[in-house]
Amino acid sequence: MSKLTDISYVKGVLAKHGFTFSKALGQNFLINPSVCPKMAEMCGCNENVGVIEIGPGAGVLTSELAKTAYKAVAVELDKRLLPVLAETLSEHDNVKVINGDVMKLDLKQLIQEEFGGGEVVICANLPYYITSPVIMRILEERLPIKSLTVMVQKEAAERICAAPGTRQSGAISAAVHYYSQPEMLFKVSAGSFLPAPKVDSEVIKLNILKEPPVQVTDETMFFKVVKAAFMQRRKTAANSLSAGLGMPKTQINSLLEKSGIKPSARAEELTMQDFAKIANSISN
Ligand code: SAM
Repeated sequence: MSKLTDISYVKGVLAKHGFTFSKALGQNFLINPSVCPKMAEMCGCNENVGVIEIGPGAGVLTSELAKTAYKAVAVELDKRLLPVLAETLSEHDNVKVINGDVMKLDLKQLIQEEFGGGEVVICANLPYYITSPVIMRILEERLPIKSLTVMVQKEAAERICAAPGTRQSGAISAAVHYYSQPEMLFKVSAGSFLPAPKVDSEVIKLNILKEPPVQVTDETMFFKVVKAAFMQRRKTAANSLSAGLGMPKTQINSLLEKSGIKPSARAEELTMQDFAKIANSISN
């Protein structure tokens, strides 16, 4: 068992370096010993596949990743954690900690510099305040990674993994399904963290697709359509699309009809194919 899941050890190291938790940075550190080895194994890193971690915190997941992958690179925003990580990760010589903001760093360049052309996965217990922006940034940039295994709040996991066309789906579900094949891996209870958050979490894995599942003429239009359709969730997709795209309702209705979609359909009833058909008929 890693000493990093021993609460008194972790509290001791953090206190020694004068560290106090920042709620604003989403700092809830894992203390459940079974979670990190499982994440490290399931994320797909190994002696040939490197790994990038976002937000190593005190290094509990980082040390498991370092045991599993030939190389681990961790990006941490909070400077106060650097001396903590230097101490907790001192036994691993295949870990590099970079001080930076995952939303601002040039991740493509980082991957090239740290892993050359080798295979890479991303694995993280994401700070909850930037869950969707981080996931969307990584997917939209088409980073050369095989997969993205992240722990997120349970509700966010359900929304992200919901198949378009099902009740829980939202704009993020369609975007995620455009770039990846998502899977729910396992649940993590709120009591597994220090300090304990109010809600449970879930580990999900987004397996990056080589090709999108639908043919789209203009990607910008596809995402505009998805966003507009979900903008007013309680209205029909036709009303929401008309308002969001600034197009007359009559035009939207005839467009839906041509695509074989009921004008009374709601956004959550639309499949990836439906979104693609709507976008393609606007851009063609
Ligand atoms: N991986 C550790 C664990 O599982 O115990 C810590 C996870 S904690 C939920 C999130 C971590 O992300 C914190 O260490 C926090 O400082 C860091 N963080 C927050 N915002 C960040 C950002 N924009 N870029 C990089 N790291 C960030």
